[in-house]
Amino acid sequence: MVRVRYAPSPTGPHHIGGVRTALFIWLFARQEKGSFILRIEDTDQERSKPEFEEDIKNTLRWLGLDWDEFYRQSERLPIYKEHLEKLFNEGWVYYCFCSKEELEAERQVMLAQGLAPKYSGRCRALGKDEVRKRLENQESYVLRFKVPETKISFRDLVRGGITFDGSLMGDVIIAKNFDQPLYNFAVVVDDALMNITHVIRGEEHISNTPIQVFLINALGFKVPLFAHLPLILNPDRSKMSKRFTDTALQEYVNRGYLKEAMINFLAYLGWHPKEDKEIMNMEEIIKEFDLTRVQKGGAVFNLEKLDWLNGYYLRHLAVGEFIKRAEPFISSNWSLTPAIVRTVQDRVGDLSELNELVKFYFELSDYDANLLRWKDADLETASANLKLGLKLVGKIPEKNFNSKFLEEKLLAAIPRESRGDILWPLRVALSGLKASPGPFDILTALGKKEALRRINLALEKINLSGI
Ligand code: GLU
Repeated sequence: MVRVRYAPSPTGPHHIGGVRTALFIWLFARQEKGSFILRIEDTDQERSKPEFEEDIKNTLRWLGLDWDEFYRQSERLPIYKEHLEKLFNEGWVYYCFCSKEELEAERQVMLAQGLAPKYSGRCRALGKDEVRKRLENQESYVLRFKVPETKISFRDLVRGGITFDGSLMGDVIIAKNFDQPLYNFAVVVDDALMNITHVIRGEEHISNTPIQVFLINALGFKVPLFAHLPLILNPDRSKMSKRFTDTALQEYVNRGYLKEAMINFLAYLGWHPKEDKEIMNMEEIIKEFDLTRVQKGGAVFNLEKLDWLNGYYLRHLAVGEFIKRAEPFISSNWSLTPAIVRTVQDRVGDLSELNELVKFYFELSDYDANLLRWKDADLETASANLKLGLKLVGKIPEKNFNSKFLEEKLLAAIPRESRGDILWPLRVALSGLKASPGPFDILTALGKKEALRRINLALEKINLSGI
């Protein structure tokens, strides 16, 4: 059975790149009817923060990426210790007392000789007594793993077979001490004990993989399959960074992007369905997703595409659902109605723009009376035409106060060539704005009483301006 894990480190706001990785892992798990495991990798005590773990969980929940099992590495330290001691007792691990300065000097010598720098393995040779003495002297140390000087290969579902040469790697630090394992060690122990079948993660971990496979072999575990997902790039193909765009998923949530648009967008960051189509919902993606069709090359983050998808999904939300999603984005003392939504649903790019778009329904601005003038008409004409508008609107029975009926009756009563003369001041009176939805839609959304009140207000405004 497929068992996969998403293993983020809670050291910063949940990054789009991480979320894309989580989505691909989750899609694979659901498609294979396997288990999706969330494992918080918080062994770096200084940089890990509970609020970042919360952010990871909240954003996964928001997207609908539910997990079947949950682990936190900081709660598993005795397990890592036991395996670390085992490797130590078998001679795979040794104390290294080299200082930063010594290591740097060693590096410089190698570079000067034209060699790729690696740890020389100097502390491998320390005798037991020497180690004991230096530990008694409280010299600082780390624990290093003896990397075999052989070639190592592993299978990557995205990239095919990959081979590294252990002799070029040097011995790696896998723990600060027996109680403080580092990433490469903890990840290997967890992946094995959690029976992970496929290790799916970002491309930046490819160079860690040979170390992990050597460790897996040393510990006698089974090697899983790997899949390294392509990097996410800025439009200029540099690595995605804050300089170009927001990198935290929460920013997009706050700006009012819909989860449907986000899923569709993220799924295409490094993958495409066989058939050429832009819009796919979660169920379709689960069905068609194919890990082996993930691209090797970097995936460009295109914000325009996200905006386009978001517009599409916003337009296609049922009105009731739109109201539900929009609620957090509009002032708490306003309440959207289906008639209001119908006037803005096609025009809103993301939900954070909505408040501004619907404001005039709830708060009529103190607009200038001159705005009521159509083209070069004077205020007197505007007033006369508004009065006509008032009369026409006043005649429509409350029960027929809907766009279709209003449009039919009003247009029938207004000669074609006078439409602008009458409908412009009417629309301005209703909205207080230079640009807004059409008058029939606004009338419907406001209701008869409020509509008449606003038209009367406009007439007063003209009076007050002294004609
Ligand atoms: N904690 C690592 C990260 O956040 C996990 C990498 C992995 O999946 O092995 O990058």
